[in-house]
Amino acid sequence: MENLTSWVDVDLDVLSNNIKIIKDFIGETKMLAVVKADAYGHGIVPVALTAIESGADFIGVSGLDEGILLRKSGIEAPILVFNTILPEQAEKIIQFDLTATVCSLDVVQALHEAAKRLNIKTRIHIKVDTGFGRFGILPEHTLKFVKIINSDFRAVDIEGIYTHFSTASSAAITRNQFEKFQSVTNKIRESGFNIPLRHACNSIATIKYPEMHLDMVRVGNLMYGLCPVGNLNIKKTAKVFSRIIFIKKLPRGHNVGYGNKYTTKRPTTVAVIPFGYYDGLELLVPQPNGVLDGLKSFLKQVLLGFGISRQDRKVRIKGRTFNIIGKIGMQNCMVDVTDLKDDIFIGEQVELSTRKVNLCYNLPRVYHREDEIFVDLRQRTVKFDTGNHYHYERGSEQFIG
Ligand SMILES: *Cc1c(COP(=O)(O)O)cnc(C)c1O
Repeated sequence: MENLTSWVDVDLDVLSNNIKIIKDFIGETKMLAVVKADAYGHGIVPVALTAIESGADFIGVSGLDEGILLRKSGIEAPILVFNTILPEQAEKIIQFDLTATVCSLDVVQALHEAAKRLNIKTRIHIKVDTGFGRFGILPEHTLKFVKIINSDFRAVDIEGIYTHFSTASSAAITRNQFEKFQSVTNKIRESGFNIPLRHACNSIATIKYPEMHLDMVRVGNLMYGLCPVGNLNIKKTAKVFSRIIFIKKLPRGHNVGYGNKYTTKRPTTVAVIPFGYYDGLELLVPQPNGVLDGLKSFLKQVLLGFGISRQDRKVRIKGRTFNIIGKIGMQNCMVDVTDLKDDIFIGEQVELSTRKVNLCYNLPRVYHREDEIFVDLRQRTVKFDTGNHYHYERGSEQFIG
């Protein structure tokens, strides 16, 4: 990647292999590949295409716009939109053959009317709130909801029913939610309604509670190799790279970065990397400098110990680990590379560990798939036409304003 200074490297073969491993693990259960939030920063279109090719049955997105983008990119698999839509967006759901999540009658009605106008049926999934407190209807109202939809909104076909776990890492909390969900779906079956797709599990629950797989699991983090549980041979799908663009030697006692939060403790070789918090590197309090900073740093270590906070102040160069020093800037950070001695050059590749979902949309994505490499530069160009409209192009997407 000679021309790039910072980029996200996505190995679609690893993704594909992860999906095959997950599919082996879940057996007959269907798999929904979650590609919300630009596929957790990996790039929604290549990831969705690879997921389908690798055997995922469903695609899951948060918003309508993501679903539309996938349809415009030629994806034909069923796409479930997790967030509830506004009634006026019903038309778009139908037009792009998306599957809406519903938890209110006004949305059902809007979907019913839009579908009737086109003389088709639209599939929906009902969301049940078993303890998350976000989308969904409460369990005690669900059976009635199903009955009303079945009797009054014939253009709407209930294909699925699902719930979302708030704390999949806790067996007690998750069992409680699952039992509520089971009790609702059982009542629905006993009342003579057949809803073919019941689903509850996210990544952690998929691994930890196979008995909760039901008809489908919804997998995000696990697919990208970002899930800390299980002993499946799942690997990380993406790596983040930048390059050293400047090197200099500083004496002992010299400040590094904004706010004078870091002082060199020895003669230090500093490498500057064009990657900052705009790009997705977390803006953290740097190494302690004084009592208050010491206290903050201590607290941070405690939080790290509990897995609440994250350690992404380390980078890898030539297979070795180095510390980011000083405050992370908007588009730059500094690394102490003193230990590399003279074995270091401008242009050297640096691997950063940062949350993939926080990666800047504009960072180029480099995809590897079966010996082929393709680059999505995601450059933005704005073109004005005569009518004072502008065409705003972002990578392969196009917006007209
Ligand atoms: C994000 C999301 C998932 C996937 O969660 P992971 O922990 O990444 O597997 C599943 N279901 C819903 C409704 C979600 O919003």
